[in-house]
Amino acid sequence: MLEVLRRIILEVNGARNLDAALSTMVRRIRKAMRTDVCSFYLFDADLDRLVLMETIGLRTQAVGQVTLPVGEGLVGLVAKREEPLNLEDAQSHAHFRYFEATGEERYSSFLGVPIIHQRRMLGVLVVQQSEKRRYDEADEAFLVTMAAQLAGVLAHALATGSLSRPTLPGGQATFTGVAASPGMAIGEAVVIAPPADLNSVPDLIPTDVDYEIERLKEAIGKVRDEIRSAGERLANRISSQELALFDVYQQMLGEAALSQEVVKRIREGQWAPGALADVVRRHVQYLERVDDDYLRERAADVRDLGRRVLAHLQEGTSATPDVYPENTVLVGDEISVAMLGEVPRDRLAGLVSVRGSSTSHVAIVARAMGIPTVLGMVDLPLPRLNGARVVLDGHRGRLFVRPSEELESRYQSMIDEEQALSEVLEHEQDQPSRTPDGHDMPLMVNTGLAVDAVASLKARIGGVGLYRTEVPFMITERFPGEQEQTRLYREQLEGFAPLPVVMRTLDIGGDKDLPYFPIDEANPFLGWRGIRVTLDHPEVLMVQLRAMLRASQGLDNLQVLLPMVTNVSEVDDALRLLERAISELGEEGVSVARPRVGVMIEVPATLYQLEALARRVDFFSVGSNDLTQYLLAVDRNNPRVAELYDACHPAVLSALSRLAVESRELGVPASVCGELAGDPAGALLLMGMGFEALSMNAPSLPKVRAAVRRVSLEAAQQLVEDTLLLDCPLAVRRHLDDRMGEWQLGHLLPPKD
Ligand code: PEP
Ligand code: MG
Repeated sequence: MLEVLRRIILEVNGARNLDAALSTMVRRIRKAMRTDVCSFYLFDADLDRLVLMETIGLRTQAVGQVTLPVGEGLVGLVAKREEPLNLEDAQSHAHFRYFEATGEERYSSFLGVPIIHQRRMLGVLVVQQSEKRRYDEADEAFLVTMAAQLAGVLAHALATGSLSRPTLPGGQATFTGVAASPGMAIGEAVVIAPPADLNSVPDLIPTDVDYEIERLKEAIGKVRDEIRSAGERLANRISSQELALFDVYQQMLGEAALSQEVVKRIREGQWAPGALADVVRRHVQYLERVDDDYLRERAADVRDLGRRVLAHLQEGTSATPDVYPENTVLVGDEISVAMLGEVPRDRLAGLVSVRGSSTSHVAIVARAMGIPTVLGMVDLPLPRLNGARVVLDGHRGRLFVRPSEELESRYQSMIDEEQALSEVLEHEQDQPSRTPDGHDMPLMVNTGLAVDAVASLKARIGGVGLYRTEVPFMITERFPGEQEQTRLYREQLEGFAPLPVVMRTLDIGGDKDLPYFPIDEANPFLGWRGIRVTLDHPEVLMVQLRAMLRASQGLDNLQVLLPMVTNVSEVDDALRLLERAISELGEEGVSVARPRVGVMIEVPATLYQLEALARRVDFFSVGSNDLTQYLLAVDRNNPRVAELYDACHPAVLSALSRLAVESRELGVPASVCGELAGDPAGALLLMGMGFEALSMNAPSLPKVRAAVRRVSLEAAQQLVEDTLLLDCPLAVRRHLDDRMGEWQLGHLLPPKD
């Protein structure tokens, strides 16, 4: 028994995600105990109920549908007493309660044990048998040990958010995440996974088992054909030993092996891609563990075959639907910028993902595109969401699945109101961003996307305050060359000329990885980021600087911005490279003016070296997103600490205010290009502090302009003075809300409950 236990634990720990781990576990326990049913109920503290999360033996459809309060039914009794319950004839027990959805009336014997971690009851593990059987002491000990082992894994999954909670029976379910891009949407959830990635296939319950089996067979057939013709093509070119590998592949794909197991898994209630991923992973794990070099190498073959079959399965599945429904709300474990681009803009109503937070990259892109987005929705039941009607609230960070009629119509009227407001604001967009007391507050935009509609913006802004060059780098498959970059930058510079365009040198690292230049670190936000990377790779920085300079020829509206600066020596090194690029180009007959150069103030250390920096550069641009994360020691990408992340924290505001004053004394213009500048109340604070320009996503412009046009500089200065007296973020937010209300600007703030 110990060996069985050890193996199950190994498998559970090695599973793709907790859902897969639970599914493996109940199957293994059922087999080890030679019993009919094994089920796992999770205690959902928010609902205060136990929810059937996984079962083998009861109807799969009951998963997520059967819930019961602690104390009710036999499972509820186990949870309440926090001790095992072993019954030969369950139905005669006073607490027995029959759930039709499970079909459990057939089972007489019952053994349930609580899962407890650090005194907290997390759920209940149950086995059942149709004929009367008294589970013996060994059975009970086995299940108790299993539950104790599971407790640690489960607690970890709950803490890290990797456990998905099922939706409630039929009706509306609400999930909360991090509000990442404002706006609201009503639409249909489309669950997507990156193509042919076995690790990110969502679990979905098949609607038509036969169809799933049919398309699995078709996909396997296609892979067999591919391998056959590849073998034939190579027959003369490789050794017979290598050629034999193709036969091994063919055998693996044969009816008796992989496919039968996948079919079985489909019948157990998993769609074809999920079933394939489960089976392949199990085989790979097994092969990787055996003590035989030849077999270990086969693990890679199985994985490869799995990917090939998956690629065919995904040709016509929801991983990349042919036609996205109107008002698609894209849902995924992690949504990349590239995935975003797959859905036609006119069909994309919203975005939801399990990972990420409000300042992660996809959030920034979503805001630039004006797509309501909620990220970090850690308990989202991906398997059960596809096709569901949803209401997405990007202001409050909520997703309502299968909304009630009343909720939907309430949201519809809020959406209508927002639409009406934006039409009203549109009327004053061509007016200057001037306060009633005559102060001009230049508004600029953050760009980086081809979708940025240059023409309509140009007349309304003071220029581009931040062009994030890493965005085009993220959607290519290698570092773009000098010519390619020159073309891209020229488009920006020309498009906005004669307005200034601040181009930031490549700011990768942190959460911004390039697919072809992965950076794997324990603490990416404290690691190799921004200028640290580009100074270590002068060949990359040189190409970029040369491309920027070349692109600016004859326009002279380029300004260069250095991200993630910590030491003045980094600025010196970058300036040296810039000079070199200018003189190299000169030697090549391309004469360019030296652009103005700025430093991003986002690492707290720079706040204390403004004077030294001022001697070297022409302007400061405050990255309030990173400055907040580093001042507060809160990872801007981690949903678990998202509540702590607040650019209106008094410490951040006080740092910003001092920075504005000092920059002025040093005669260096300072602007802000973090998200705070796009928040109407935040923008008024920054204006009152004395910043010289505010740069934001284009969709934020109308509200910020409206705020600036209604509040005098004097009033904004008073707002700063009063706000700086407050000592916690909540007090600041309340104060800002109150003042905005007094100024009749409440409608510019995100709606509250
Ligand atoms: C910032 O940190 O505030 C900023 C503007 O840069 P990014 O969000 O791209 O890191
Ligand atoms: Mg930054």
